[in-house]
Amino acid sequence: MIINNRLTSVKEVCECAGLTCPAELEAVSSPLKMFTNSYYASMIKKADYSDPIFAMTVPSPEEAEAKNDCDPLEEEKFMPVPGLIRRYPDRAVYTATLNCASRCRHCTRRWQIMEGKAANWRETLPKVLDFLKSHTEIEEIIISGGDPLTLPDEELIEIVSAFKLQGIKVLRIGTRMPVTFPMRVTKDLCQKLKAYSPIWIQTHFNHPVEVTPEACEALKNLVDAGFPVNNQTVLLKGVNDDSRVLEKLFRLLIQNSVRPYYLFQCDKIPGTEHFWTPLETGIKIMKELREKLSGIAVPTFIVDRPALEGKVPLSYATAKENEILFTE
Ligand code: SF4
Repeated sequence: MIINNRLTSVKEVCECAGLTCPAELEAVSSPLKMFTNSYYASMIKKADYSDPIFAMTVPSPEEAEAKNDCDPLEEEKFMPVPGLIRRYPDRAVYTATLNCASRCRHCTRRWQIMEGKAANWRETLPKVLDFLKSHTEIEEIIISGGDPLTLPDEELIEIVSAFKLQGIKVLRIGTRMPVTFPMRVTKDLCQKLKAYSPIWIQTHFNHPVEVTPEACEALKNLVDAGFPVNNQTVLLKGVNDDSRVLEKLFRLLIQNSVRPYYLFQCDKIPGTEHFWTPLETGIKIMKELREKLSGIAVPTFIVDRPALEGKVPLSYATAKENEILFTE
């Protein structure tokens, strides 16, 4: 499978995209080595950071200075057992694997994502199931990672069925595979998962160029099998901090029966500073999107403050004494 054939240098990525690697970028490095696959790399049209796929794949020179912080969102504090992150009473996130099809430079868990193999679920799942037995108030599990779709079909089904047997009522699978390696989302896999519905699929498209014919096919396989598909986009400076780019993306998503669900302010993770936008940028973009798009195509703009209020929705309007107040 192409997914096992990783591209791990800027030169390899450029060659795959049919581009010449600029000499000054050949030695670009980061404590977190890059990796991607030939499908995702082939979307690159320019070998510089103005290309959205290049910027999301190749370490920026600023990253070399990044402070090594393995748990910037303090997820370990919220782990009652290894692998389970519980911030809310009724739901929790299970990290089934730390493997992905491509390492995104803006990833919240970028310090944990492994450069290969690393599927740890056989070790963690039994303890997680034990914990759930005595915490029946948890009704919803988000199977995340890494990307759970890097696991073979049988292993993914084993995990899903174990949660269902445990009495979990709603499952979500968080995956960027429809974006980074959509050929993995086969009809066969979708049919196998269908037996465990309801399963909500959470994808992560950030830019309209990611909505390729292959990606549309993967989304069709999911939708035809009956899965509701929601998308989370991260607002990234230089990649999609422009309402025209996001308008195009959200139009394409609804045309493929995917709901634009959240637009996230980029988390303040060391090494991602070059992607950060001011909050005002997001609010302005949301206002412009509201003017252009139908309600089903407009996501909620979210700032995640995990150690404080959790997910905070932001809007360009608020209310005081029964009057609507608008931001500038
Ligand atoms: S696919 Fe998801 S988990 Fe993997 S690097 Fe990208 S954002 Fe992070």
